[in-house]
Amino acid sequence: MPVESDFLVLGSGIAGLTCALECARAGSVVLVTKDRLPESNSRYAQGGIASVWSPEDSFESHIADTLAAGDGLCHRDAVEVVVREGPDRVRDLIALGTNFDLRGDPDDHEYDLGREGGHSKRRILHATDATGREVIRALGEAVRATPNISIRENHLAVDLLLERGERPVCWGAYVLDREGRGVHRFPARATFLCTGGAGKVYLYTSNPDVATGDGVAMAYRAGAPIANMEFFQFHPTCLYHPEAKSFLVTEALRGEGAILRRPDGETFMKRYDPRAELAPRDIVARAIDNEMKVHGFECVYLDISHRDPDFVRGRFPTVYETCRRFGIDMTRQPIPVVPAAHYVCGGVVADLDGATALDRLYACGEVACTGLHGANRLASNSLLEALAFAHRAATHACARLRDDRRRWPDIRPWDAGRATDSDESVVVTQNWDEIRRFMWNYVGIVRSDRRLARARTRIALLQEEIREYYRDVVVTSDLIELRNIATVAELIIVSASSRRESRGLHYTIDHPRPDPAWAHDTVVRRQDGAGVEVLAPSRRAFA
Ligand SMILES: Cc1cc2nc3c(=O)[nH]c(=O)nc-3n(C[C@H](O)[C@H](O)[C@H](O)COP(=O)(O)OP(=O)(O)OC[C@H]3O[C@@H](n4cnc5c(N)ncnc54)[C@H](O)[C@@H]3O)c2cc1C
Repeated sequence: MPVESDFLVLGSGIAGLTCALECARAGSVVLVTKDRLPESNSRYAQGGIASVWSPEDSFESHIADTLAAGDGLCHRDAVEVVVREGPDRVRDLIALGTNFDLRGDPDDHEYDLGREGGHSKRRILHATDATGREVIRALGEAVRATPNISIRENHLAVDLLLERGERPVCWGAYVLDREGRGVHRFPARATFLCTGGAGKVYLYTSNPDVATGDGVAMAYRAGAPIANMEFFQFHPTCLYHPEAKSFLVTEALRGEGAILRRPDGETFMKRYDPRAELAPRDIVARAIDNEMKVHGFECVYLDISHRDPDFVRGRFPTVYETCRRFGIDMTRQPIPVVPAAHYVCGGVVADLDGATALDRLYACGEVACTGLHGANRLASNSLLEALAFAHRAATHACARLRDDRRRWPDIRPWDAGRATDSDESVVVTQNWDEIRRFMWNYVGIVRSDRRLARARTRIALLQEEIREYYRDVVVTSDLIELRNIATVAELIIVSASSRRESRGLHYTIDHPRPDPAWAHDTVVRRQDGAGVEVLAPSRRAFA
C-alpha cells in the first residue's frame, strides 16, 4: 500500500529534522531515513554553528568572510539570506532545548563564541567539541514528540516519483524497506531531499557510511541540474587506523603546536608554505597528499608529544580518549593521519526557497547547491545553511499546500522487472572499492588533465557494469548506494574536467591559477542516452 502524506522528508540530519518540524505545523509528514534517526553527518559536527551573535560582530563582516572563502563563486543573495536569518534560526534551536556552551555566570546566558579559520570575529556557537550530537538530540526529541510526523527508520529512498512534462513534477519517492524488504510508493504533495553529503565516494572520508550522495544521484536521474560538484573539501587530518572509521583530528591541535612528520620523522610543511603547520586547510591537505603520493607513504604523523601531557589531555579530551582506544598515546607518540573527503560544496541546484527545477521538489542542506559556499566553504557555515534553507523551503511548501487543488496522478508500483536474487555481493564490494580508490588517486586533492581522463574512462566502464547488474538483480541497499556513488563520481569527474583553472577547492597542476573567464558555476544535467551534459556557464541554472 502507498504511504501517502502532505510532506515527504528524505533524511534525518539537521536539514531533514528541521523541515519535518516546520511542515508538521501545516500537514502530515512522513520522515524517511535510511539508518537510525540520529545517524547523519550532522551528528558528527564538532566545531559548531556560525552566526552573528555579539555586538562586536556584524552581518556585513560574516557576509564578507563567506564571500572571501567562496573565491568569487558565492551567490550574494544566498549569502545574505543565510547570514541575516542565521541568528533567528539559532534562536529556534535554543527554544527547542539545544544547550550551547555558556561562559561566565550561567544566569547571564552569555554564549561562549568560538573563532575558526576564515572568520574575522568570534561567532561559533558550540556544545563542547560535539555540537552536532547536541543539536540532533534536541531536534530528534522534538520530532519524536510531534504527533503528525511518522518516522520510518531503516528506509532508503531509491528514486523519485515523477510525472513527466515540460517541467517534471515530483510526487514523492520509491522507498526500500531495509528490514521488511520490498520497494514501496511514498506519494507526497511536496518532497524534501535532505540526504546530506557524499564523502563515501572517496577512499578516506570524515563522513559516516550513510553519506553516499543518494539525493544528488536521484535528482540527477530525474533530470534536475546539479552544480559545482568539483568543489569537494578535504580535511587535512583524519585518524589513520584500520578500525577508526572517519575520526577527525581537530585542526586546533596544529594551533597548539602539533607538527606534521613523515614516517621517518622528518618535518615537511615549511617546504610548502612559510606558515608551515598553520597554513590554511587546503594547503596542508595538499602538502600531505603530495608527500604520500610521491613517497608512497600510507599516512603521515601529527606530533604533539613535545607539549605537557596534562595540557594535551585537558585541552583535547575527545582526541586523547579516541586515540587511546586505538592504542595510541598522543602525549608520547605521534598520531597517524591522512587527509579525508569532508564536505561537498556542490549539489542539486536550489533557489532561495530551496526549490529545485522539479516542481514540488525541494533540496536543503549538504545535498543542495544554493550558492552560499561558492568554490570553498567557510568553516561552520554548513549547519547554518541547512537550518536557514530547511526553514525557507518548509515555509514555501506549507504556503503552497493551502491552495493546492491538484489531483494525485496515477503512480505506478515499483517495477522489479525480471530481477532475481543475487549472492554476488563481491561484485558490489569490488566496484565500490575501485571507485573510491581511483577517485582518491585521480580526482582527489590534486588533479591533472591526465588523471581526470583516466578516471573518466574507468567510471564509464564501471557505470556500464553497474547498469547491467542493476537491471538483472533484486535491488538491495548496497547496490542502490553503489549506483549512486558511481553517479556522483561521474558528476565530480565531468565537472572537474570542464573547469580548466584552479579555484577554491579545485586544484589542477595543468591549470594552476584562477582564470576570470571561469568565474561561474559548473552546471551539469542528465542527457537521455548521451551521458552528462555540461550546461552553458550561468550564475543560476534555472530562473
Ligand atoms: C566529522 C564532521 C564534522 C563537521 N563539523 C561541522 C561543524 O562544526 N560545523 C558545520 O557547520 N558543519 C560541520 N560539518 C558539516 C555538517 O555536519 C554537514 O554539512 C551537515 O550536517 C549536513 O546536514 P544535512 O542535514 O544536510 O545532512 P546529514 O546530516 O548528512 O543528514 C543526511 C540524512 O539523510 C539520510 N539519507 C541519506 N540518503 C538517504 C536515502 N537514500 N534515503 C533515506 N535517507 C537517506 C542519512 O541517513 C541522514 O539521516 C561536519 C561534518 C563532519 C562529517
